[in-house]
Amino acid sequence: MRCPACKQYGTLDALSVPDFVTPIAGTAGQVVFGQRRCPNPACRKHIFVVMEGGRVAISYPPEQLDFDSTNIPAAVRKAFEEAIECHSQQCFVASAIMVRKTLEELCRDKGATGSNLRERIQALGKNIVLPKELLEGADNLRLLGNDAAHIESQEYQQVGKEEVELAVEFAKELLKAAYQYASLLKKFDALKKV
Ligand SMILES: [Zn+2]
Repeated sequence: MRCPACKQYGTLDALSVPDFVTPIAGTAGQVVFGQRRCPNPACRKHIFVVMEGGRVAISYPPEQLDFDSTNIPAAVRKAFEEAIECHSQQCFVASAIMVRKTLEELCRDKGATGSNLRERIQALGKNIVLPKELLEGADNLRLLGNDAAHIESQEYQQVGKEEVELAVEFAKELLKAAYQYASLLKKFDALKKV
C-alpha cells in the first residue's frame, strides 16, 4: 500500500507484535488485525491495518490520494487537502464539496470574478492560460460539488468514490496548469543560464 505519511508505495514491514487473527463466520476467510511500519527509512510511520483476503481493507491512518502542493497558495491548498482527507475517510459527498471550494479559491486567487461560479470559471479561462478541455472539466467539477451541496439538483444522481476520484484527478491537473507549469519552465530557464 501507499504509506499515508510519505506517500511512497511499498510492502509494509511487520513489527515484533503478533497479529490478531479472527475467522469470518461461515466462510473459510479470516480477518487479520495488525501493526506495521513504513519500509522507507526516512519515514518509518507506524500503521494499523485490517486485512481481508491478504489485502489491506482498512488502515489507520488511512491511505490518501497523492498531491503535490508545490507553489499552490495556502487557501487553495487547504481546501484541496481537505477534499483528499474527506476522500480517504470515504466521505465522498463532503469531498466533492471541498473540490468545489478548491475551485472557488482558485478563482478568487486568480482574480476571476462573476456573479456565480459558472461565470467565475469563464473569467478564469481569460485570466490564465488553460487548455479548453481543462476549462470544460472545471465546469463539471463545479456541477459535481453543486449537486453534492444541493439535494434538489439532479445533474449527478449520486456522488461516490468514482466520481470524486475523477474530480480530484481533474482538480490536480487544473492546479498544475494554474500554478506549476510556470515554475517548471523557470527551472528550464535556470538551467539554460548555467
Ligand atoms: Zn512512509
